[in-house]
Amino acid sequence: MAPNVALQADISQTAIELLGTVTPILRALSSDNVHPLAVLQLDAIGSRFPISGPLAKQIPDALTRSSSVRLGRLQNLVGWMAGDTSAALCQSAGGQASALLTLCLVEMFCRNSTGHLLFDLSMRVLPKNRCLASMAQLSDLAEVVSNKLKPLAFGQHHAIQVTRIRETYLRSDIELPPQTSASLLERLTIDSMVELLDAVQQALQDSTLLLYIEGFQGLGGVVSLLMALCPDDVTLLIEGEVIFQGQRRTIIISVKHEGKTLFGLEKIIHTKKSSPHAVTFRPNEFLAHPGGFSSYDHLTMEAKGCLFRMAEQLLFVTKKPPQRVIASFVNLIGTIMLSFTGVDFGPGSDFPCDGLRLEFHKPLSISDMYTTQQLHADLCQLLGYIPSNAGEGQNVVGACSGSTSILPMTLGADSFIKGHLVRYRALDGQFHDGHSYYKAITENAHIQPRALARVSIQRDNTISPSAMGVHSNIILSLRPHHNSLTLRATVNFGTQMKEISFYDANLAYMATCLAHPCDHHPKDPVTVLDTASVIRTGVEAPVASDGRISVVLTHNNSEAQFLAGVRGVPSMYQGISCLGCMINRAKEGGFQLLIQS
Ligand SMILES: [Zn+2]
Ligand SMILES: [Zn+2]
Repeated sequence: MAPNVALQADISQTAIELLGTVTPILRALSSDNVHPLAVLQLDAIGSRFPISGPLAKQIPDALTRSSSVRLGRLQNLVGWMAGDTSAALCQSAGGQASALLTLCLVEMFCRNSTGHLLFDLSMRVLPKNRCLASMAQLSDLAEVVSNKLKPLAFGQHHAIQVTRIRETYLRSDIELPPQTSASLLERLTIDSMVELLDAVQQALQDSTLLLYIEGFQGLGGVVSLLMALCPDDVTLLIEGEVIFQGQRRTIIISVKHEGKTLFGLEKIIHTKKSSPHAVTFRPNEFLAHPGGFSSYDHLTMEAKGCLFRMAEQLLFVTKKPPQRVIASFVNLIGTIMLSFTGVDFGPGSDFPCDGLRLEFHKPLSISDMYTTQQLHADLCQLLGYIPSNAGEGQNVVGACSGSTSILPMTLGADSFIKGHLVRYRALDGQFHDGHSYYKAITENAHIQPRALARVSIQRDNTISPSAMGVHSNIILSLRPHHNSLTLRATVNFGTQMKEISFYDANLAYMATCLAHPCDHHPKDPVTVLDTASVIRTGVEAPVASDGRISVVLTHNNSEAQFLAGVRGVPSMYQGISCLGCMINRAKEGGFQLLIQS
């Protein structure tokens, strides 16, 4: 008995020591919630695919990039951590190849189908003892890797490849029936794709083998995939004419509009064909998305240059109901974020230097209201998002798609922006704290609202610019909670300290109207005869009780002006108007909360 026990103890001790030596990599993988066996398996698949070409050259930089942006005064960051899962894959040729393959497959087949496909492919090309990861683990890993590689814009590559084929037909005498033309973009079944990739890896590794692919249906995706993975090995023919020729003749793709799509390996010495495989397709997928760019749902596109077209489009829709206008606005903002290059907002551009300004000249009536809550939710989801699993009772302040994070500018800003702007930042990467990645920034949805002000904080009947209502300090902090970071905003007013809802303040901030400029000076004081119906308040309790008007004394403090907002109360920001004109306008327009500039 005794020697056995000793032996077992030795083994477990060794195992733990072994674990100790791989701690850095395990930490990297756990930051992504990735299973180590899945990484090993993906690397093994990749080693079967020697990759080449321009996308392959971009892989190392894209996999290892690790710049992060700090969120203003918060300790947390948005971006990529050095030495994450993707960076680990970058350390081997197999890892790099598998990353590129995974990117293409996720964009063509979505994450879950990619996991399925990689699983089936492993069973064919790897020894049984290397097929250890589950489909779900491979899917999770595929998502992590493809997110990091989004900047490669596989969708753009795909569009270029398909356009080249179509243009060749346009220039030729061959007139393709519309249905045939559309079939170019049909998607192969997973089984056919597995079979094809198996043949590709055999041809890439055995110089005596040639892979011959011919037909038309579904070849758009096949050409894109192989021109991404290994263009140096591809010869592309269209109706017998060479359109592209790589350095090596490993794979010949012959696009012919008549005939079924088939592929097969041929032995070069004997030129003896193996029996070709017929390719099968997923049923009705392309037709299910008429008018869509392609049958692929997940293509990542670059959107450079579409800014002007979107602005034009916006002008055309201004006569439709406000909801449509603002929905277009959301699209426009989204497009700007996607296509933002720096010069778009610069001098000489048609857009203001400091972003887009959303101004309402009257409070929106309930019937046509597109609330800032909806606007915020739409903006958060614009680039795709992974839901927070922090549970009920949480509002989402910032969201992450796995590759891009989006959050209101007010959260990241060191100081709050003057004026009232709808500004969001879209950043490459995920929220992280240096150890783990997070998919959302949330806030408790049940923070007690601030009290209503019953009496004025100033007694005389002259209102002048004043900072009497300003808070003394604000602390924004984030703490991990499931896959999210939970935000807490703690504000000091004199000797009091109170948690306030940043989410609500931000929505109020976006909904605040700007007072019209007038001919008077913004610092001109105003004497109010009716001190009971117009009271002066502070950030601690900005809104007056009994539906009266309040002027929040936040002069020259943009942070207090931000905090003065209370969601659902019609609010106006003084801007360059004088106080008297702002109060008059507020009475006419039904504004209740007036914020001093
Ligand atoms: Zn399967
Ligand atoms: Zn005035």
